[in-house]
Amino acid sequence: MSQDPPRIVIAGAGHAGGSAAAFLRQYGWKGSIVLVGEEPDAPYQRPPLSKAWLKGEATAESLALRPARFYAQQAIEMRLGTRVAAVDRAARQVTLSDGAVLGYDRLILALGARPRSLPLPGARLAGVMALRGAADADALQAALGPGKRLAVIGGGYIGLEVAASARALGAEAVVIERETRVLARVAGHALSAFLEAQHRIRGVGILTGVEVAAIEGDAGAAQSVRLADGRQVPCDTVLVGIGAVPNTEVAQDAGLDCAAGIVVDLAARSSDPAIYAIGDCTQRPLPLYGRSGRLESVPNAIEQAKQAAADICGRAPPPPEVPWFWSDQFDLRLQMAGLAFDVHEAVMRGDGSEPGFTVFHLDAAHRVLAVEAVNAPADFMAGRLLVAKQARVAPEILRDPAQPLRGLTAS
Ligand code: NAP
Repeated sequence: MSQDPPRIVIAGAGHAGGSAAAFLRQYGWKGSIVLVGEEPDAPYQRPPLSKAWLKGEATAESLALRPARFYAQQAIEMRLGTRVAAVDRAARQVTLSDGAVLGYDRLILALGARPRSLPLPGARLAGVMALRGAADADALQAALGPGKRLAVIGGGYIGLEVAASARALGAEAVVIERETRVLARVAGHALSAFLEAQHRIRGVGILTGVEVAAIEGDAGAAQSVRLADGRQVPCDTVLVGIGAVPNTEVAQDAGLDCAAGIVVDLAARSSDPAIYAIGDCTQRPLPLYGRSGRLESVPNAIEQAKQAAADICGRAPPPPEVPWFWSDQFDLRLQMAGLAFDVHEAVMRGDGSEPGFTVFHLDAAHRVLAVEAVNAPADFMAGRLLVAKQARVAPEILRDPAQPLRGLTAS
């Protein structure tokens, strides 16, 4: 049933949900907005949780997505500490976990993702942690410091960023990755090799191509990670960073199309015209690459928040963006744009053993598919434009730091 005034319910108060509320007001939505969030906090930024926040270098104000007064000023009603438990599409209403029932004209599912759990003996011992929210980061920080030993299972973004932060806090850190290289899911070989070397130089142990058999403990607390080859990694704390699982259950129960994520189009519309989905929980078109995928990133959360808000407010859809990601580890800033599907050739610009290089991933026709840069922001910006234009560039030009990239992106 239609509400008076018309109401948008946003399920999920993370980066995607919080941004959607803000864009709706910016684009002129005059009806009511209800933002439902499971955590007790107003929307905040997750990227610092494994970096500045973990190291004690960020404040709650700097973490917040918007100042606290913003939501009252913009008439955005917050329902925190509760979650959307069920959607009744026929009645256009949601039931919250606290029992409240809310009607909606439009529903935006910004349900996020949760850490994948480790299906192994010992995973429930005290000292075994995951990192997704601020409370997780606080618990992890309390366990790190001089003399503490951290074992990280998973050499993805979470694992490497936390290992770097743990070293800054004076703790020992060992990263255990089952692939033959770190960041295997998201980075090329050269970047993986560079990062492994940089972590080792800074005292992080990196074990690749190894299987974890169990976490072993004493008196209910983790003491070591046992590998399948029998080796033991002694530790006080274990961080499990083995990927994220999209929160699609509410959408699946409601009968929305899901396929490793809630299926949406470029206006973030789900298979129900009254329901949108945005952020980590979606399976979205990747127009540059002629396929669909799930993007776990802040830029994607913001882009899809814009798409949904624009569609609801009757505005033209925003132009599709090049997917991009960043990561800070020690004094290294990694920036990545594009997706390296069907790569024919990787071209190194600079010396890949030192910060200040860029890798371009090309298809067989020398089209720039993706770019990865370490402490090379200007080349990254130029590379991102080349990806957006699907520009074809001779490898010799990309390889030669004396050849400017700016001119290539001018037309
Ligand atoms: P991730 O990037 O998917 O990396 C997880 C890694 O752990 C993969 O290489 C995975 O290998 C490996 N792994 C899986 N099971 C394992 C096991 N049993 N033993 C050892 N290694 C195992 O995920 P994440 O680092 O956990 O990050 C979680 C989420 O946070 C993601 O959405 C990520 O994008 C996001 N995040 C992003 C940033 C950033 O953008 N800078 C920073 C922090 C977090 P397989 O591929 O073989 O499974």
